Amino acid sequence: MKDIIMKAEILIEALPYIRNFYGKTFVIKYGGAAQVKDELKETFAKDIVMLNFIGIKTTIVHGGGPKISAVMEKMGKKPKFIQGQRVTDEETMDIVEMVLGGLVNKEIVSLINSHGGKAVGLSGKDGGLIKAKKKLIKKPAETGVDEIIDIGLVGEVTHIDPHIITNLEKDGFIPVISPVGVGPKGETLNINADYVAASIASALKAEKLILLTDVPGIMDKKDKIISTLTKKQIKKSIEDGTITGGMLPKVQACIKAIEGGVRKTHIIDGRVPHCLLLEIFTKEGIGTEIQA
Ligand code: ADP
Ligand code: MG
Repeated sequence: MKDIIMKAEILIEALPYIRNFYGKTFVIKYGGAAQVKDELKETFAKDIVMLNFIGIKTTIVHGGGPKISAVMEKMGKKPKFIQGQRVTDEETMDIVEMVLGGLVNKEIVSLINSHGGKAVGLSGKDGGLIKAKKKLIKKPAETGVDEIIDIGLVGEVTHIDPHIITNLEKDGFIPVISPVGVGPKGETLNINADYVAASIASALKAEKLILLTDVPGIMDKKDKIISTLTKKQIKKSIEDGTITGGMLPKVQACIKAIEGGVRKTHIIDGRVPHCLLLEIFTKEGIGTEIQA
C-alpha cells in the first residue's frame, strides 16, 4: 500500500508543470546518441506520446549526420567537413535528402506511432515550411580580408512559414521535420538541425526549445556540467575555447531562439532514458539552461 501511495505522490509532483505547460508548444531537436540506441529510441518516442496526451504540443526536428556518413561510405563517397559543416555537392545532397527525409524521418514517425501518437513526417519543402539561402563560410586569411569558402549546398534559414505545423497541431498530429530547406532558385539545401529547431521554435513562439545531445550538457574546463549559462557567459566560453565544435551551433541556436521569443532553452543528455520527462517535470531539471 505504501508503495502505491508513493507512486501517486510522484505523479502529483508533476501537476504544477502539467498545469503550466498545458496547450503550450515545445520544439525538440532529436539527435546525437539518443538516435542510435534502440532502448533510447523507445523511451524518446514514449515521452513524446505522453507529452502530447497531457496536452503539450510537440514539434520534432531531427538530425542524422552519422547515418548520412554511413550511407555515403557505402556508396563509395568520402564525407568531408569544413568548420564542422558537411561539404555538400549535388550527389551528397541527394543522399542527405534520401537518408534524412526517408530513413531517419520515417523511423521516428513509426516509433512514435507505434506508441499511440499521431506523427507526420515533413521536410522543410512541405507547405513551404523552410526557405533558405546558401551559407558562406569565412576563413581568416593572411591578407586580412576573410576568404570565402564554398561548401556547396549548405543553407541557412531565411524564413519559416509555420502554417503547416500549426494546422497539424490543431488536429493532434506531431510534426517530425527533417532539416532540408529550399533556396531562392528552388534548390535543395542542407541545414544544421540545431538552427532549424531554433528558427521553428521562434516562428511558433514556443514555450521551450530542447536540444538532445550526447553529453550531459555544456561542460566547463574541468568537465563539470554548467546548469545555467547566459548570453554573456557563452560569448566568453566561446572565446576561451570552452565551447567548441558541435556545441557551437547549439548555443547559437539557443540564443537565437530566446531573442526570437522562445521562453526557455535547454541542452540535455539524450543518453539518459526519459531525459525529456526529467527536464520538463522535475524542479531540478537536467542539462544546461541557456538564458538571455
Ligand atoms: P549532436 O548530434 O547532438 O548535434 P554534436 O557532436 O554536433 O552532437 O555536438 C555535441 C558535441 O559538442 C559533444 O559531443 C562535444 O564533443 C562537443 N562540445 C564542444 N564543447 C563542449 C562543451 N563545452 N560541453 C559539452 N560538449 C561540448
Ligand atoms: Mg550537431
